[in-house]
Amino acid sequence: MRQGLGAASCDMLKSLYAKKDEQKNPMSAATAESKTYEFQAEVSRLLDIVANALYSNKEIFLRELISNASDACDKLRYRALTEDGLMASNQELSVVLEPDAEAGKLVITDTGIGMNAEDLQDTLGAIGRSGTAKFMEALENSADSNLIGQFGVGFYSAFMVADTVTVETRKAGEDQSWRWQSDGKGAYTIEPMEQGPVGTRIILDLKDDAKDFADRHRLEHLVKKYSDHIVIPVQMPAKAEDVGEEGGEEGGGEGGEGAISDTWLETLNKASALWTKSKSDISKDEYDGFYKSSAGAWDDPWETLHFNVEGHLEHTGLLFIPSARPFNLFEPDRKNAIKLYVKRVFITDDCQELAPAYLRFLRGVIDSSDLPLNVSRELLQASPILNLIRKDVTKRTLSALKSRAKKDAEGYSSFWSTFGAVVKEGLYEDPDQRDPLLELARFKSSTQDGWVSLADYKDRMVEGQTAIYYLVGESQDAVKRSPHLEGFKAKGVEVLLLSDPVDSFWTSVLGDYQGTPLKSVTRGADDLASIKKVGDSAEDAAQEPVKEGDFAELIAAMKESLGDDVKDVRLSERLTDSAVCLVADEGDMDMQFARIMAAHGQEIPKQARILEINPKHDAIQALKSRPAHLEDSVQLLLDQALILEGEAPRDASLFAQRLSRLMA
Ligand code: ADP
Ligand code: MG
Repeated sequence: MRQGLGAASCDMLKSLYAKKDEQKNPMSAATAESKTYEFQAEVSRLLDIVANALYSNKEIFLRELISNASDACDKLRYRALTEDGLMASNQELSVVLEPDAEAGKLVITDTGIGMNAEDLQDTLGAIGRSGTAKFMEALENSADSNLIGQFGVGFYSAFMVADTVTVETRKAGEDQSWRWQSDGKGAYTIEPMEQGPVGTRIILDLKDDAKDFADRHRLEHLVKKYSDHIVIPVQMPAKAEDVGEEGGEEGGGEGGEGAISDTWLETLNKASALWTKSKSDISKDEYDGFYKSSAGAWDDPWETLHFNVEGHLEHTGLLFIPSARPFNLFEPDRKNAIKLYVKRVFITDDCQELAPAYLRFLRGVIDSSDLPLNVSRELLQASPILNLIRKDVTKRTLSALKSRAKKDAEGYSSFWSTFGAVVKEGLYEDPDQRDPLLELARFKSSTQDGWVSLADYKDRMVEGQTAIYYLVGESQDAVKRSPHLEGFKAKGVEVLLLSDPVDSFWTSVLGDYQGTPLKSVTRGADDLASIKKVGDSAEDAAQEPVKEGDFAELIAAMKESLGDDVKDVRLSERLTDSAVCLVADEGDMDMQFARIMAAHGQEIPKQARILEINPKHDAIQALKSRPAHLEDSVQLLLDQALILEGEAPRDASLFAQRLSRLMA
């Protein structure tokens, strides 16, 4: 039976005071029993900020600790499916809040998986918590503690409200109980303690300005607000007098003022699996609340998908597309975070087969009736059922996006700004969905504001234009400034401006959109000649055409001077303002793609590029008459073209020498 607060708080007080003495000199040598560890420097800094600088929204610590407790219960239930004796068959999983207003304490107990000494050190001492630095970064932009759960450092929010945090815990399947304790000032202790029940008990010694978190009504309200949709019941011992009123004899009699019964527990949250209810019985608030508590999110979902598949495949899904970007969206592991349940039992939140990586922003739950309850990780990976579920999830998500794009262009734009870079990964790695993905994709463009679709682009193509043109570069600023655009601008031809890292990838595999080829403006040469300038053709015609022969001598001299550094030198169709630019040959790799591959340490064959010169440019005109410093000028022009591509000149010191010589 669970211990009542009375006995426990005595226990705890004893240990607290004992600890306090030791903490006067936290780095003092460890006793045989208790060991003191330092937090990693980064965590120490985080704790300092959390404890001293976050004043708003302190209440969210409760959501974080309840969410951890509920996760721990889920983990135990899952492990107990495959390990005998881990959980008694009638054992209930729960989270219990025990406030003690008089003592200014709050105790949060769960009957979950618990932790051993190693776990305590690894998880609460925070070795390798990637979220720590990211959370601090986010705090610099907005001092909103609300974000903490998103960064995988939710536990530390306890230090917003507590001077001392004590964790007493025993891991399921092990005999030893452990006590972890810290005042959040650089160090923590871990010591073995007398055996307690399996699970975890977190004792918060509330700060002076946070004593109201020991208030029952406040806690009831907060559980409703933040943790209503936790599937595990969150309970609080009923007040003695309430118990007296309701049920009388059993619980009411036990002791003086403020005494709390240890048998009567009130459940504060709904504690039901929301996805099992029918759509018509669920309000928007309930959906939003479920999203927030199950995903640890603070935003409202941008879209909610609730579906029930029956027939030869049976599962229920409650999935959400967030409106804000989760912090780890661009971590290399590209993990999805959908929770897998089997017949309402939580199985894992690390099942990569549930959705393709390019939909990893999805949050929520898939509950399958087809998988066996004791499904192992290996079995999961090989399961054809998951394959079918993934297809279903993909299809539903893409069609939800399609209908949102149709109905709500503005809302869709904001989705695309947030997640478009991720969705575009699908263009590269999911050929099956390429067509629907191309319809969903939006791009920045050289002639339009906002986002444009390929369908819109095609409608705007000018006479003589046979391809959809794009330019890939490092950033929007860089592509907008690129000399490659000049000729296209002059002829009024729209160019898609791509600057996400993934753009180099999908453009390298995608040939066409509905029969119209996609073509990089950095490749090839002939296109612009066949496109008539939009608008005034009179002025165009009046301009004297460039005579190629006039430049033959210069081009030959340039080729000789540049040697193997270029594949060719030729007159440019695409330049109007700049003197030179580099282009890739028709069949060669896109230059930005080559740069990205090289930056990632990929061996790529060195490809010499073509140097194009602008015959109308003053510098080129001047070179035609073969000045004294032709060699220096030609070499400088190539370096200039490299710099325009965002690359370094071939040899910085030669570059400087040549420039100085010319200036002199
Ligand atoms: P997150 O929950 O995102 O992993 P937290 O900082 O909230 O990050 O928690 C860190 C880790 O500490 C958890 O992943 C878990 O391993 C462990 N932990 C925290 N609270 C408990 C608990 N009540 N029972 C078991 N393990 C816990
Ligand atoms: Mg957590």
